[in-house]
Amino acid sequence: MTRIVIVSNRVGPLTDTGRAGGLAVALVDVLRERGGLWFGWSGEVSEDGTYSPLRLYEDGNVSTATIDVAQADYDEFYAGYSNRALWPTLHYRLDLTDFDRRLEEGYRRVNERFASRLVPLLRPDDIVWVHDYHFFFLGETLRAAGVENPIGFFLHIPFPVPEVLTALPNHKDIVKAMLAYDLVGFQTSQHLSGFERYLLEEVDGERLEDGSIAAMDRRVVADAFPIGIDGEAFSTFHETTEGRENFTLMRSELETRKQIVGVDRIDYSKGLPERFEAFERLLELYPEHKGEVSLLQIAPPSRSEVRAYTQIQRLLEGLSGRINGRFSDLDWTPIHFITRSFPRRALAGIYRASAVGLVTPLRDGMNLVAKEYIAAQDPEDPGVLVLSRFAGAAEEMREALIVNPYSIDELAEALRRAIQMPLEERKERWTALNAKVMTNTASNWSRRFLDRLVEIHTPAEADG
Ligand code: UDP
Repeated sequence: MTRIVIVSNRVGPLTDTGRAGGLAVALVDVLRERGGLWFGWSGEVSEDGTYSPLRLYEDGNVSTATIDVAQADYDEFYAGYSNRALWPTLHYRLDLTDFDRRLEEGYRRVNERFASRLVPLLRPDDIVWVHDYHFFFLGETLRAAGVENPIGFFLHIPFPVPEVLTALPNHKDIVKAMLAYDLVGFQTSQHLSGFERYLLEEVDGERLEDGSIAAMDRRVVADAFPIGIDGEAFSTFHETTEGRENFTLMRSELETRKQIVGVDRIDYSKGLPERFEAFERLLELYPEHKGEVSLLQIAPPSRSEVRAYTQIQRLLEGLSGRINGRFSDLDWTPIHFITRSFPRRALAGIYRASAVGLVTPLRDGMNLVAKEYIAAQDPEDPGVLVLSRFAGAAEEMREALIVNPYSIDELAEALRRAIQMPLEERKERWTALNAKVMTNTASNWSRRFLDRLVEIHTPAEADG
């Protein structure tokens, strides 16, 4: 029987999905449906690194196989090239990139080691699906080792325009490695077009009649596959104990007040300082909202080994402290800035209790929080989504209040409009948005990608 083999940097968990990220849940679903293997990093650093024994775990028809990395791998591959070169470049932050050759070599080394550890685990009729920017070179290495299975790649983060991508010193190697996959998937047609433009304009590629693109002596099919969430689950989470407790707690606090909610990892791509400043501007411009509207920002820290991340956290702590010092009253604090994470069920209750969902990244592959906020609303009294035009989600979610997250004034005005929006307009917008969230689910997304991968795979052409 055909197995799905998923490769991603972080693996699992296969159980306790209430605490897992949205992507993990989507992938567990597809693995359970078809049976499969999930391969990646164990999350552990050990002396043997990628030479350490495989950690194997089996649960029914799904198994996981993970390996450790060495400290140098972690520093160069993960904290280094992945998160100090690729992440900022692909999010248009060339000012934050570190193109150190040593990091690039570490990245390649770890990709090659992961590939060589995966090869013995593969069976002839497996379908391999590699995820995200940590593993651009994995497919190329598998092909060089003689693997002929269908191999697909999905990029969860943005793919920038060639004018930005070409700042990466090894941009050609990265894109050439992407062409070793049979199918390359992006979140939006904009990201797809950045990739196609690169191939056609930068390396003289050619679009073939079947829609694929030939370039650098290889051929690839590329398309947009916007990722979804498990909308059904999010629309019922408020009925769980955790969801109900959080909803009730918030609502009793919010009897006479309205809450704006933001939920983001602390990351410079999320537009958090601009968001705090926009809320401050709202209070300056429309003082009648003082005491009546508050901003709850849930912001678990991430990647704290990278300096830009600790810096942005300090900046946010300073900003929220200053704004609270300036506007707080004895019975009202404008910004609740919580730097820990909440389980998804609790988030659903919080989303449902909040009149406005504020999602304003400066760049984002998709942004699942935007979709979760919509799915969690009460259909009789739904809140309003304020959404950055630079989130991948904006391509589908046109009925949100779409904003330019760089413009503090525009953001403040959108907040004002959202807070005051009449019920009828809220319902109309929400109904349209919710229909999309419920249709384009996580499992539809993985099915679309995998069906396409199987359809286009022809072993004779795979080596290209
Ligand atoms: N999330 C969570 N608990 C938190 C904060 C976030 O479970 O305290 C989840 C959130 O529900 C969403 C994911 O983390 O599913 C964040 O995904 P998104 O695409 O919005 O951003 P990313 O972190 O992948 O850049």
